[in-house]
Amino acid sequence: MEQAVRDLLRKASEAVESAGGDVRRLDGLRVAYLGRKGELTRLFKQLAQAAPEDRPRLGKVLNEAKEHLEGILNQALQRAKAAEAGSADRIDVTLPGRRPLRGHLHPITQVTLEIESIFHRLGFETVEGPEVELDYYNFEALNIPRDHPARDMQDTFYVSEDVVLRTHTSPIQVRTMEKRRPPIRVIAPGKAYRCDSDVTHTPMFHQVEGLMVGENISFGDLKGILTVFVQQMFGPHVGLRFRPSFFPFTEPSAEVDIQCVMCRGSGCRVCSQSGWLEILGSGMVDPEVFRMVGYDPEQITGFAFGMGIERIAMLKFGIDDLRLFFENDLRFLSQF
Ligand SMILES: [Zn+2]
Repeated sequence: MEQAVRDLLRKASEAVESAGGDVRRLDGLRVAYLGRKGELTRLFKQLAQAAPEDRPRLGKVLNEAKEHLEGILNQALQRAKAAEAGSADRIDVTLPGRRPLRGHLHPITQVTLEIESIFHRLGFETVEGPEVELDYYNFEALNIPRDHPARDMQDTFYVSEDVVLRTHTSPIQVRTMEKRRPPIRVIAPGKAYRCDSDVTHTPMFHQVEGLMVGENISFGDLKGILTVFVQQMFGPHVGLRFRPSFFPFTEPSAEVDIQCVMCRGSGCRVCSQSGWLEILGSGMVDPEVFRMVGYDPEQITGFAFGMGIERIAMLKFGIDDLRLFFENDLRFLSQF
């Protein structure tokens, strides 16, 4: 009996070895030795015929043989399966390559760069300022004291009583004038924030601020610069008009309309049948703002303007819902 077990183990080990990494052959060997009619199973059955005093010893030999055989079979199977999985991961160098998805600049970024480049050609330089701004720069220094009604129109996110998310890019005017002496010609693109959310407003949006300050800067300069800008942005034949308006930090102030780009001035839904579209606010810098930064308003004049970049992009690309810009749907974004 013990000899038979030893012979069987040797034969089984050789068979496992010669099966190599063949999973099906290894499974077959398991059935042949350990299955219900397997060779080792048969030896277990013979145990009943052995002398009662030999049974415990023989039983132990058989159990050890079974454990050993299961061990080497399991090991071989694991190795075989690992090798199979490995070959599936191997790279097939004959397959064509996969092209990585190539993106492009967001339409808002494209329009920002275009606006910047137009003003760079007119001698303006780009400057930046913080999005988390002191109440002083966002309101007070722009002639908007705490009880001013203009604050209601620009309700924002307060970080603390004196710190806000800026509601416009205009604070950069003040920051720039504090640091430099005239002449100044800068534009300041960036994000601004207001508590607003509907088809034409998002809580975060983009603006470009412009400022030109020096001696003898007149309203004529304002009109000239902005006319060149509109013509380069929307085409040389687009009409524009200046409409009197009010901003706390400019005097006089004017809103600039362009002829509707959808209907060319004949009136449509986009322009509410007026033929005109408002695109920016502008005006001569208020003497009070100059005093705040230590300039002499008797000597220094200048103009400022601000426009919403989303608004310009919507008109340029014919988009009717502002929120599309920020939903990050590639089906929308890849059209520009
Ligand atoms: Zn129209």
